[in-house]
Amino acid sequence: MYFRVLILVLSVFSLPFLAGAADVPLVTLGGEVGAADKASINRFRSLPYDSLPWIRADLSGEKASEFDEAGWGHILFRPFKNYSGDISGRFIEIMAMNARGDYNVHPAFKELLAELPKHQRPGGYFAASGLIDWQKPIDHKDIYKSTMMPALWGNARLLCGLVEASRAFPDDAPLLAMARRLGDFYVGLIPRFADPARMSDYTGGDTYAAGYVTCYFPAMEGLVKLHTLTGEKKYLETAITMAAFYKQFDRLPIDHAHGMLCNQVSLVLLYEATRDVSYLERVEKRWDELVTGGYVNPAGGILEQCKVKFGRDEGCAIADWFRLNLALGRVTGKARYWEMAERTLHNHFLQNQTPKGGFGHRGMLCDQAGVHGFEGSIEEAVWCCTFHGQLGFVNLRSHLLNRSEADLICNFALDFTAKYADGTAVSEIRPVAAAGEVLRQRIRLDGLPATVLRVRQPHWANAVTAVATDGSALPLVTKDGFCATARPVSEATFIYAGGIYAEDRRCKRLPAGPVAGEACVIGYGPKLLAAQGRTAAVPTWPTTIEALKAQGLEPFPAALRGKECCFVSGPLSLAVSAKPVWDTSPITERYPYVSTGSFTGPAEPLSPDPPVAKGGADG
Ligand SMILES: [Zn+2]
Repeated sequence: MYFRVLILVLSVFSLPFLAGAADVPLVTLGGEVGAADKASINRFRSLPYDSLPWIRADLSGEKASEFDEAGWGHILFRPFKNYSGDISGRFIEIMAMNARGDYNVHPAFKELLAELPKHQRPGGYFAASGLIDWQKPIDHKDIYKSTMMPALWGNARLLCGLVEASRAFPDDAPLLAMARRLGDFYVGLIPRFADPARMSDYTGGDTYAAGYVTCYFPAMEGLVKLHTLTGEKKYLETAITMAAFYKQFDRLPIDHAHGMLCNQVSLVLLYEATRDVSYLERVEKRWDELVTGGYVNPAGGILEQCKVKFGRDEGCAIADWFRLNLALGRVTGKARYWEMAERTLHNHFLQNQTPKGGFGHRGMLCDQAGVHGFEGSIEEAVWCCTFHGQLGFVNLRSHLLNRSEADLICNFALDFTAKYADGTAVSEIRPVAAAGEVLRQRIRLDGLPATVLRVRQPHWANAVTAVATDGSALPLVTKDGFCATARPVSEATFIYAGGIYAEDRRCKRLPAGPVAGEACVIGYGPKLLAAQGRTAAVPTWPTTIEALKAQGLEPFPAALRGKECCFVSGPLSLAVSAKPVWDTSPITERYPYVSTGSFTGPAEPLSPDPPVAKGGADG
C-alpha cells in the first residue's frame, strides 16, 4: 500500500518533466538556413512531385507519363523503377515526419498511403517488376538492369517511410500492418543474405549503387526503428545479425558513401537500442578515418563515392553525414560532432542545394589532397537527394534544443522558433555590437518558465559571454564545451567572440596561421571563406575580414551556389598522374555516368571487392 502511494507520489512529481521530455516542439527555422529549408519543402509542390503516378511507379511498375523514357533532361523522366520503394518510401518518410498528424501535408500523400497495401507482394516486399525469387543468385548487372539489390535498397527506404508514417498516424492500423509485413520480410531474409557460405554471391558485383553491400544493409535502420515502435524483439535481433555480418564489408574506400553512411546511422540507432558500446565504437572509429583520411572535405561534405577525390558529390551522402553527426552529438554529447554538423550545414550542405530548392550532384574541384572547391554545375537528383536534403532539415529541427527539468540546451547559433505545448522558445541572430564579436544570439522564452539557458561554445568562438534584457552582464558557467546562465532566466543574449582562423585541409586548426608554402583553409564563424574561381592566394597573416573581401574571399555566400568557387587557399597539387584518373578536374562532361550506366573518359577503377572473410561472419 505504502509502496503504491510512493509510486503515485513519484509519478505526480515527475509529471512536468515527463511531459516536457515527451513534448516535441514544432520548429520553424529562420535566416539563411530557414530559407533553404522552406525552399526544400516547397520543391515538393512542383513537377515531378505533383504526379502521384511518378511517385508510385517504383511500386506499381506503371508508365507514369509519356516522358518515362525521355532521358535526364526531362523533368518527368522516371528513372530507377527497379529501386522499388525508393522514391515512394523517401516521399512517405519526409512527409510523415513533417505531417504533425495531418494527411494533407502533401496532395499525393493520403492517396499513396491508402493504395499501398495493393502493391505489397505476398512475401511482404514491394517490387515494381513483379514477384522476385530471392533464392536465386543475385542478378549483378548495373543500376538500370539489376532487380534484386535495387529492390532491397528501395524497400529499406520504404521501411523507414512506413515506420515514420505509423509513428505519425498511430491509429492507422493498415499502415503498421504493412510496416510489420515488410519488417518480417527482412527477418526472413537472414539465412539468404547473411550466410557465410554464400560470400561469392555477395561479392560477385561492385560496391556502387546496385551492389550487395550498398543495398542489403541499410534495412537495419528501418528494422531498429520498427523495433522501437512496436517493441518486437525479432526486428532488433535481425538488425543485430545484419550489423555483425556487415562488419566484414565495412571499410574504406567504398563506392557508395550514401549507403555506407546510412549503415553508420543504423549502428548509432543499434547502440541506442541495445546500449552495446561496440556499435558506437565502430562508428566513432569510422568518423576518425573519414575526417583524418580526407574523405570529409574542409566544407564538411563527402563525395558520392567515398573517396578522397571524385568528380562529384551527392546531396544524400552530405545529408547522411549531417544526420550522423547530429545523432552522434545526441548520444555522446561530444563537441566534435556538433561542430562537424555545423560545418557541414553552413558550407557543403547549403552549397549542394539547387536554385529550385532540391539537392543533387555538384561537380567537384579536386587535387591530390582532395576537394578544394566546387564547380558551377549542379544537377538535381529528383529521385533521391531532394528527399534526403529535406531529411537533413527534419533532423536539424529535432536537434536544435534539448529541454529538461534542469535547463534548455541550445546546440546551434541559428534563427528559429520552437513551439512547445506550454510556450515558445525563440532564438534570434542579432547584429554584433563591438569589434571582436562574430555574432550575437538572443534566446527568449515566451510562456515557458524561466530556466537555465545553455549554449554550445563553438570552435570558432574564443569566448562566450551573455547580457540580460537590460544590457547588464549575465554570469555564465562553462563546462564540457557548454556555457550556461548561472541562474534561471527568461531571456539572454549570448555574445560569441572570435576572429578569422586558419586550418589545414583536414579541419585542424593552425593556431599560428597559415604555414608558408602550404595550402590552408580560412574560416570566420561557422563559415569557410570562399572565392569565385579555382584558386585563391593565401592572405598575409594576420588579416581582417575587409582585407579578405578585397581579395575576393567571403564567408561562404549563397551566391556561390551556382558558381565555380574554391575554399582552399594556396598551392594545390594538381599534377596529373601518368595514368589519369576520371576524377581529376576538370570534368569535361556534366553527367556522363547517368546516361550510359558507366563513366566515360579515363575511369578511376571501382574500389576492390570487399575482402572475403575466412571462416565466419564476424571477420
Ligand atoms: Zn542522392
